[in-house]
Amino acid sequence: MNSLSARGPGRVELLGNHTDYNDGVVLSAAINFAVTVQGEVRADRNVTLHSTISPQAVCEPLSRLDKQTGDASWANYPLGVASCLREADYPVEGFEMRISSDLPPGAGLSSSAALEVATACLLMKLFSLEIAPMELAKLCRRAENDFVGVKCGLLDQVSSIFGKRGQAVYLDCRSEKVENIPLPPQTELLVFHTGVEHRLVGGEYNERRERCFAAVRALGVPALRDVTAAHLEAARSQLDDLVYRRAAHVVGENERVFAGIDYLRNGDGASFGKLMFASHASSRTNFENSTPELDVLVDLAHEEPGVLGSRLTGGGFGGATISLVEAERAEEIARHLEEKYTARTGNQGRAYLCESADGAA
Ligand code: ADP
Ligand code: MG
Repeated sequence: MNSLSARGPGRVELLGNHTDYNDGVVLSAAINFAVTVQGEVRADRNVTLHSTISPQAVCEPLSRLDKQTGDASWANYPLGVASCLREADYPVEGFEMRISSDLPPGAGLSSSAALEVATACLLMKLFSLEIAPMELAKLCRRAENDFVGVKCGLLDQVSSIFGKRGQAVYLDCRSEKVENIPLPPQTELLVFHTGVEHRLVGGEYNERRERCFAAVRALGVPALRDVTAAHLEAARSQLDDLVYRRAAHVVGENERVFAGIDYLRNGDGASFGKLMFASHASSRTNFENSTPELDVLVDLAHEEPGVLGSRLTGGGFGGATISLVEAERAEEIARHLEEKYTARTGNQGRAYLCESADGAA
């Protein structure tokens, strides 16, 4: 039987924090760390999955792809993709698939979307499916939302599919328009994991969403996407302070994404980097989704020559920072940050020096 393979890259969020559920805009990049899958068609109408992260294979009959629990729950991402493709009437039959990856799971680099996208691309090849890239992103998100049961936006899957080497991915969450924008030349992306897992306790996340929606109701607009910073300032006295600050973060992030696109188009990495620092400052004071460890990392990055910008990436409450750094100083910067971060916090952080990469599709 012919064995085929596919690859789904991870991603970093560069600007546009918590904008997705506010109909907003976001800039990300696919990176050269990825989930790779290899597999072949099986004649017996079973789906058999193996991963290097687990000694146990998972085998499910195609006629009943059940949600896995406990140690086997990693299999829900590929099972979810197979299930969603079948529900959408794509002729997916039995297959065997082996998963390997150099993307650390749970580090905020979106290994889950990378796994979904890699699986979907393999199934497209194995069963000769034609699926447009945006449709593919939505099917993968549906697998994560409905089968795995995680409420994520579209960014992760879009980045993994639409990424381009040397380019950022711009996503407008309202119109679902996607565009590639050139990243500054001679720069690299330095992801630094704090060693502290996401503390995205449901309650915190829901509070942020609720306050954003409270601002929308008070301002009488369809979404925070429709609010400018000037509009928000003018209405400040009518808003509860927390509602104001949560909204100010999202409104500011949308404006920083638009300003950031202009800087990128002009090749102005220095100004883009300043927006990244401003984004983090707003996370710190307005949205309060930073942590002491993330703050230490951004402060250390700020002092380090060759760092253009740095901020928390992803949901916050733990996880990782992303820094835009000069390529020729990148390794030295990564080493310095690792040493200084451990000295300052006692935590073992980990730097991942990334390049922007082509997407899966
Ligand atoms: P993130 O997407 O930020 O890495 P998530 O919690 O959304 O974090 O997804 C991580 C989950 O994705 C893991 O717990 C695992 O279930 C699954 N996963 C990631 N990489 C692999 C892999 N190589 N093999 C099997 N499952 C994986
Ligand atoms: Mg994920």
